[in-house]
Amino acid sequence: MDVSRILDDLNEAQREAVTLPLGSSLILAGAGSGKTRVLTHRIAWLIQTQGVSPYSILAVTFTNKAAAEMRGRIETLLEMPVRGMWVGTFHGIAHRLLRMHFQEAKLPRNFQILDSDDQLRLVKRVITEQGIDEKKWPARQACWFINTQKDEGLRSNNIEDYGDMFQKTQLQIYRAYEQACERGGMVDFAELLLRALELLREDEQRPYNTSLLRHYRERFSALLVDEFQDTNTIQYAWLRLLAGNNDNLMVVGDDDQSIYGWRGARIENIQKFSTDFPNSKTIRLEQNYRSTGSILKAANHLVDNNQGRLGKNLWTEAGDGDLINLYSGFNEIDEARFIVGRIKAWVAEGNLYSEAAILYRSNAQSRVLEEAMLRSQLPYRIYSGQRFFERAEIRNALAYVRLVSQRDSDAAFERVVNTPTRGIGDRTIEIIRRTARAGNLSLWQAAQQLVAGDILPERARNAISGFIELVNGMDRETEDADLKTLVDRVIAKSGLRPFYEKERGERGQARLENLAELVTAAGTFDPDEDYTFAEDEEQEALTILDEFLTRASLESGEGQGDPNQDCVQMMTMHSAKGLEFPLVFLSGMEEGLFPSMMSLSEPGRLEEERRLCYVGITRAMLRLYITYAETRRIHGSESYNRPSRFLEEIPPELMQEVRLRNTVVRPPASPNRATTTVEGTKFRLGQYVSHPAFGEGVVMNYEGSGKQARVQVNFARVGSKWLMVSMANLQNAG
Ligand code: ATP
Ligand code: MG
Repeated sequence: MDVSRILDDLNEAQREAVTLPLGSSLILAGAGSGKTRVLTHRIAWLIQTQGVSPYSILAVTFTNKAAAEMRGRIETLLEMPVRGMWVGTFHGIAHRLLRMHFQEAKLPRNFQILDSDDQLRLVKRVITEQGIDEKKWPARQACWFINTQKDEGLRSNNIEDYGDMFQKTQLQIYRAYEQACERGGMVDFAELLLRALELLREDEQRPYNTSLLRHYRERFSALLVDEFQDTNTIQYAWLRLLAGNNDNLMVVGDDDQSIYGWRGARIENIQKFSTDFPNSKTIRLEQNYRSTGSILKAANHLVDNNQGRLGKNLWTEAGDGDLINLYSGFNEIDEARFIVGRIKAWVAEGNLYSEAAILYRSNAQSRVLEEAMLRSQLPYRIYSGQRFFERAEIRNALAYVRLVSQRDSDAAFERVVNTPTRGIGDRTIEIIRRTARAGNLSLWQAAQQLVAGDILPERARNAISGFIELVNGMDRETEDADLKTLVDRVIAKSGLRPFYEKERGERGQARLENLAELVTAAGTFDPDEDYTFAEDEEQEALTILDEFLTRASLESGEGQGDPNQDCVQMMTMHSAKGLEFPLVFLSGMEEGLFPSMMSLSEPGRLEEERRLCYVGITRAMLRLYITYAETRRIHGSESYNRPSRFLEEIPPELMQEVRLRNTVVRPPASPNRATTTVEGTKFRLGQYVSHPAFGEGVVMNYEGSGKQARVQVNFARVGSKWLMVSMANLQNAG
C-alpha cells in the first residue's frame, strides 16, 4: 500500500505520532509545530492502513470552520470522499447525539436550542414568576450562576443548599429554570454538553444491548481532540466516559495556548491526562514550520515569562526573516491608518488581502479599524463576534435615538418598549400591535391612543405612558444638542447602562464599553469627506443624525459577506486560535488594553493574557507588525497608556521601529513651542484639536490673531488644512 502521501511530508516525531499503534496519546507541542496536521494525517493513516472505517472515527475541533477544513484535508490525502466520520465541536457533537437519542435524553423530538439572549429572557420570566425581586437578583447574574454550575456538571439537585442567601436564591431560580426548560423542551448551550454527558453516564447500568454508552464505545475505535488545553471539566468527563478502558483517545494541545480559563477551561486537564490514562504515550513536537526565526524567537521569549509551564523548545529551519515591525501611532486613528497603508503596500506587492489579518484584544477596538477599512474601500471580514453595529446593546441604544427623531419607527418601538424591562408585558404589546393594525397606525400612535382610552388595565397604561414620556423627554432635552451629546444623553436616560451593569463578568463590561464607544463614534462621525456645513443649523443636526443612523443600519445588514471574496481578516486574538496568516497585525498593544485592565490585579489572569499574546504572535508566518497608540479614545474617553509590558518581554534586537514620511508628525517637543499660543484664541501650537468633519489633528502653525487667526492643522485622516479659527468650530482635544 502506498502510504507516501500520508507520511512523506512529516518529520520524524510527527511520523511517530501519526503511526502510533491504537492507544492513548498526548501530543504536546508549541504553536505551528504541526499538531493539527498530525491529527489530520493520523485519521487518514488509520483509514488507509489500519482498516479503520471513517464511521469509527470521532474528531473534536474548536470551531466548525476547523472541522470543515479537517475533513477537506483528509479527503485530499485519501483522494476520496469520507462519509460517516464524526468531526465537529463539542457542542455540535453533543447536539447531534441528543437529536439522535432524544427519547433516551428525555427530550421532545423537536427540542429547541436557547441562545444566550433567549436564555436571559427565560430566566427573567422565571424570576418574576417566582416572586423574586429582579432588582436584587438580576437575571444576568442568575444566568451566569446556572451556566457555571452546568459547566462543572452540577444540576440544581447536586448543589448543597447551605443556607447562604445568595446560594439559596440562585438555587431556587436554577430549579425553576430547569423546570421551565423541561416543560418547554428547551436546551441552552451548557445543557447540550451536560445532557450529552448524562445520556451516556446514566445508561452504564442498562442491559448490554440497549446501552448507548456501550454502543458508542464499540463504534468509535479512535477519538481525537484538537486544542485539548481549552477543554472544560464536563467536556473532559465526557471524553473519558466515551473512551472507557479502550485506550483510544489521542489529544493534541499546547499548555502555552490555554486562553479560555475565564470561561471554565481547565489547563490541568493536560497535566492530568497522563495520570488518567497511564498507558498513554506522550510525544513532543519541537520543530515549527509556520513562522520565521524572528517571530518564533519573540514568541518563545515572551512566554518564557510565565511560571509553571510544561516547557518546550521550539525551533525552526527557516531563516530569521524580517525583523518584527513596531509602530507607535499618536492615536488610534493614526494606528488604523498605518495598518491600512501597510495592507495596501502588501497587495501592491502582488499579495492577497486574505493573507493579511488584523488581530485585537477586545471587540470594541474593531470600530476604528473597520472605519479605516471602509474609508479606504479595502474589503474586510470580521470573524466571529458581531460587527459593532449589529450588537444587541448598540441596536437598543440606536433604537432610542431613532425614536427620538422618528416616533413612528415600529422596529425601534418594538425593540425597546420593554428594554430595559418596565413592566410592559407580551400581552400588552400584542394589544398595541392589534390596535395599530386595526387603525392603520404606527405602534407609537397606537400606544398613545391606548393610553387615552380604557381598554388596557391601569398598570399597563401607566407603564406605556411612562415610556412615551421618556422618549418625549429625551427629545426635549436634546433639542439643541449635537450628535454626540444627543447619543450620550439618550443612552443615559434610557436606563440601558444600569441594565447592562447587572450582567456579570466580561460580557456586561463589554456591553458598557460598546455603549461608550457608540458615543465616541457619534462624536467623530463624518458623513463624508467633502462634507460642507449646512447654513441652517437645525437642519444640519437632523441630517447628520439621519446619516448616522443610515450608516449604522447599512453596515449591520451586510452580515458576514461572501466567504470566497478576497478580503482582509479581522478578529480578536481569541478567535485566531489555530489559524495562520502570512501578514499579521497585533494592534492596540497598550497597558490596560492588552494586558487588559481586569487582568492586572491577578497573576493568573496576567499569565493567561501573556499566553494570548503568544497565540497572537505565533499566527504570523512571514511578517508581523505590532502597533500601539500613544493616546486612545476608547470606551468614550481618552487615555494615555504606556506601551504593553509584553513589548519589553520581546528582545529589542528582534524589532525595528517603523517611522513614516507623509504621516502626521508631531511638532518637536520644544518647551517654547509648547507654550506658544495662537494670539487671541484658546489654541496653542502642538495642541490636539478636533474638528466635526476632519476629525483629530495637531495645530502646526498659525497666522493672524483673534478673529483673523488662521491655524494650520495636521489631521490624522485628511492631512494638513488651513482653517479660520472663528469659523471652523475647532475643539480642544486634550
Ligand atoms: P497551532 O498551535 O497554532 O494550532 P499547530 O501545531 O496545529 O499550530 P499546524 O497548523 O498543524 O500547527 O501546522 C503549522 C504549519 O506548518 C501549517 O502550515 C502546516 O502545513 C505546516 N507544517 C507542519 N508540519 C510540517 C512538515 N512536516 N512539513 C512542512 N510543513 C509542515
Ligand atoms: Mg492547530
